[in-house]
Amino acid sequence: MAERIEWATLEDKADVERVPYEERWPPCTVYRMLQETAAAHADRPALSFQIKSGPDDSAETMDWRTVLARTTQTANMLRALGIGAGDTVAALLPNCNEMALTLIGGMTAGIVTPINPLLEVEQIASLLRETRAKVLVTLAPFPRSDVANKAQAAAAEVDTVETILEVDLKHYLSGAASWLMPFLRPKMAAQHRAPVKDFWTELRGQPDDRLTFEEGDDTRIAACFHTGGTTGMPKLAPHRQRGMVYNGRIPALHMIGETDVLICPLPLFHVFATYPILMTCLASGAHFVMPTPGGFRGEGVITNFWKLVERWRVTFMIMVPTAASALVRRDFSADTSSLRYAVCGSAPMPVRLFERFEEATGVKILEGYGMTEATCLVSINPPHGERKIGSVGYPIAYTDLRILQCDADGNVVAECGADEVGEICIRSPGVFPGYTDERRNEGLFTGDGWLRTGDLGRIDADGYVWITGRAKDLIIRGGHNIDPAVIEEALLEHPAVAMVGAVGQPDARSGELPCAYVELKEGAHADPAELAEFAREHVPERAAAPRHIEVVDTLPITAVGKIYKPDLRKRAIARVYGKALAEAGIQADVIVVEDKTRGLVAELVLRSGAQEAEIAEVLDPFARPWRLRQ
Ligand code: AMP
Repeated sequence: MAERIEWATLEDKADVERVPYEERWPPCTVYRMLQETAAAHADRPALSFQIKSGPDDSAETMDWRTVLARTTQTANMLRALGIGAGDTVAALLPNCNEMALTLIGGMTAGIVTPINPLLEVEQIASLLRETRAKVLVTLAPFPRSDVANKAQAAAAEVDTVETILEVDLKHYLSGAASWLMPFLRPKMAAQHRAPVKDFWTELRGQPDDRLTFEEGDDTRIAACFHTGGTTGMPKLAPHRQRGMVYNGRIPALHMIGETDVLICPLPLFHVFATYPILMTCLASGAHFVMPTPGGFRGEGVITNFWKLVERWRVTFMIMVPTAASALVRRDFSADTSSLRYAVCGSAPMPVRLFERFEEATGVKILEGYGMTEATCLVSINPPHGERKIGSVGYPIAYTDLRILQCDADGNVVAECGADEVGEICIRSPGVFPGYTDERRNEGLFTGDGWLRTGDLGRIDADGYVWITGRAKDLIIRGGHNIDPAVIEEALLEHPAVAMVGAVGQPDARSGELPCAYVELKEGAHADPAELAEFAREHVPERAAAPRHIEVVDTLPITAVGKIYKPDLRKRAIARVYGKALAEAGIQADVIVVEDKTRGLVAELVLRSGAQEAEIAEVLDPFARPWRLRQ
């Protein structure tokens, strides 16, 4: 059995760290870690995928011996297709066994860039272009999925793509459904230039017992993930082998072994699923289960979730707060006695929801904190010690975390004391070397090399980390910084409110004024005036009380369940500019777009004749740029 060290207190972390990192784990690549696990647990289940969500629906499981063999073939195939150590293979796939193989094989052969299949063609093309992707692994046409079409349209716009490899999900369908598939295939226009090949046909010819090339060392950049972009355009973050292995080693050291089963309904194009979850399985031999391509978004997954836990004898469920909120409302009649913990992260978990979830399900939550820029894991509540609700626990072993006050250039102005709020800064084997786009790296690291996370937080007297907001999210009202979290927390206290997103709306006098978008609980009622009154009473400072509150059917959320603030900002700008123009007698549609260098820009489509000078008089006092749509 692999070494296991219980983790309850900060002293336990210090104990682990008494052995230097490289001494505890000599440099190792992801592929070598997989080889070790496959040697130790060859016949144990490794990856399972079910295309439909029913507890009795067919599923495909690979054991560790098979995962190693198929990964070896995938890596060899990618090399044969021209992927060298510095070349990019893009994975535009939903969750499935092939996505896991493409990730691990891709990071072994070259640099893998997973792309969210929900992105639009333009964004996909832009990520392919920026990474100079040579091979694109994607879906073959599949009913009710537009991924294949988007992939081909995007690839057609990018010169670097030399091969498209298609994964045909129909082999996951049983019997009649699979037989019907050729008739259900949507018609596709052949828009691309690159040859299209079948993933499994290409793979089969490759050796499965050895790599056909020399692997680089653990400092090699082997992946490039795009950030969720909750505060702006997605940014590309390169990851080293070393950071990937680190994300697997730590959970395996403290709490996850080969008999564990992790159900992961989160997308593999995001760091949370790939690193602390998939890599932990690679490090420990635990079983990684993917319910449907869409995970929590998949049809029936939330409804059947507890039955799926029973089916797979799940010990760890992986979730985000929005999923927790949907799951507490479901029927809980299933045998879930195998469950040990629900690991939750990615976005703030409201304390009320935390308590409701534990009460309703009896499952203990371990809330953690991570980010793409740290490969992922930063801190988590200790599984064998006191969990402080609302905190994100202790920094994991070999991660140092400080709360600093920095100026814009990254110079440290002061270090905060216990419970004093400042910017969370970290150092760890997982911290990335900086974004691929150099322009984004200004002030990203402190002078002495600590990553500035952009998150605001504090460390309490016991060493627990509390996230209090995001520096990069602040609403700046006349030079006064307002943390949107104070508005969101206050409105969440209202009994009718399910979710809140607060952002700054442009204001000619103050720069920005706070506004809030609110999604109500199912069947609940509350009008904006009532919510505004409630906010005035409950938001702790007067200046932070939202000037405008809007009730919306659904808040825009990202694929990992975070409120997508750029959409809310766009709505706010369009509303404020539209109103200001109308008051000046100028009829125009305002469409807000994201511009690479200028950020959000309002584009105007005039419906009545107006001179540019007249428009400038109305809109120039606002800080946000505008232009006439061409
Ligand atoms: P991403 O790189 O897309 O995963 O986003 C990382 C960001 O998500 C962090 O910088 C935090 O702002 C936020 N985040 C992650 N985990 C938590 C958490 N447990 N509570 C609050 N915010 C979180």
